[in-house]
Amino acid sequence: MRIITHTCPDCGTILAGNVLEDRRRMKCPREGCETVLRFGDLDSEKQEHLVENREKYRIG
Ligand SMILES: [Zn+2]
Repeated sequence: MRIITHTCPDCGTILAGNVLEDRRRMKCPREGCETVLRFGDLDSEKQEHLVENREKYRIG
């Protein structure tokens, strides 16, 4: 399965793309980083892949 990640532009924390797909927007999980990461920040091609394969990402 293809792994899609999103990297926080401020601190470099790597977040799983499917988590963003699920929540749409969330604060960076890194302590002390207030950056809000959005599903819409991903490339449109990555967004489409996550939406089309959301069932696979939910399993496990
Ligand atoms: Zn961050």
